[in-house]
Amino acid sequence: MTATFAELWSGIAPIGRVRNGYLRYALEEPELVLRDWFRNQAARRDMPVTDDGNGNLFAWWGDQWGHDAVLTGSHFDSVPHGGGFDGPLGIVSGFLAVDELRRRGHVPRRPIAVVAFVEEEGGRFGVPCLGSRLLTGAIEPARAAALTDREGITFGEALGDTPAGRLPGLTSRIGALVELHIEQGRALEVPVGVASAIWPHGRWRFDFTGIGDHAGTTRMADRRDPMLTFAYTVLAANKEARLNGAHATMARVEVEPNATNAIPSLVRGWLDARAAETGTLDTLVEAIVKRAHERAGRDGTEITVTPESFSAEVTFEESLAARIASLLGDVPVLPTGAGHDAGVLSAHVPTAMLFVRNPTGVSHSPAEHAEEADCVAGIGALASVLGDLT
Ligand SMILES: [Zn+2]
Repeated sequence: MTATFAELWSGIAPIGRVRNGYLRYALEEPELVLRDWFRNQAARRDMPVTDDGNGNLFAWWGDQWGHDAVLTGSHFDSVPHGGGFDGPLGIVSGFLAVDELRRRGHVPRRPIAVVAFVEEEGGRFGVPCLGSRLLTGAIEPARAAALTDREGITFGEALGDTPAGRLPGLTSRIGALVELHIEQGRALEVPVGVASAIWPHGRWRFDFTGIGDHAGTTRMADRRDPMLTFAYTVLAANKEARLNGAHATMARVEVEPNATNAIPSLVRGWLDARAAETGTLDTLVEAIVKRAHERAGRDGTEITVTPESFSAEVTFEESLAARIASLLGDVPVLPTGAGHDAGVLSAHVPTAMLFVRNPTGVSHSPAEHAEEADCVAGIGALASVLGDLT
């Protein structure tokens, strides 16, 4: 079985594509079609597929869950109206790297699995890297099962069962994970690079409450308008991030009643905050919360802040990153502000990431792009790394 990158890519490119980017939510129609595509590609390569009971799929070359397996892969799900490369490029590259290794006559000494992690973006159930967190025991299965999407459907319902949770014998069964991913900044100027670290990052939900009232009859002085507190908090988050050399974004908002002629009673906004170091991130979030409360005092509103997820700082295993960088001809080694399943796995097993150049740096947007030649270079690099490790 030999396929080219262009053939496989054109096969999945239309799945979940809408007018403005991709809608590929975990365990909903387009992503389910991609999961079928995964099983189909695995079958064509005589790679049996197993499911870990958490929604993660594994296509095996060698013993299924034998010992010391080397995993490669990524995720199918997208952020709302995201790009097509973030995630799927790693899975497509995994299958094509297997093809390339077979073409080279490689006989692996340990099992290789191409993996598709479920709900990496947290776009449907709110917790990013949910599949890899479950696999490694970083989240309780009962808590994961109870997470709801915007329609009130739980993750357990979408999965059809309570998740299985941590894989028994995790660290002896998984010897390493190498995730290939499109680079998401503007940091890579050659086709392929290697990750050094992931910034610590998290999500916080801010509930701003005030008093809903008539936009025409309520005097300005009498208002308790939570939209004002929210707006101030968005600006404060931006300013504090700049002051701390960090990143803060408020990009999702819900308003009640969300009517043009009514002062809202509730504004709910989500903060995404990231920094190179945990101390800086703590300082940043504390400063934003403090300024929000000060403003609430002036607006006569109230704020509740709920941490929704946190991903600790990740340093990928230095010796593995160095070995890969030198194997590939001294390619650049660089950190990223984006979270990944490889980051979750890195707390338990040796992990590494390969980045494929992103000419504009744009990601989580329909404008995300990688050149075909760079994707092909990424597949060649991934095949070399998997060959070296197995
Ligand atoms: Zn991704």
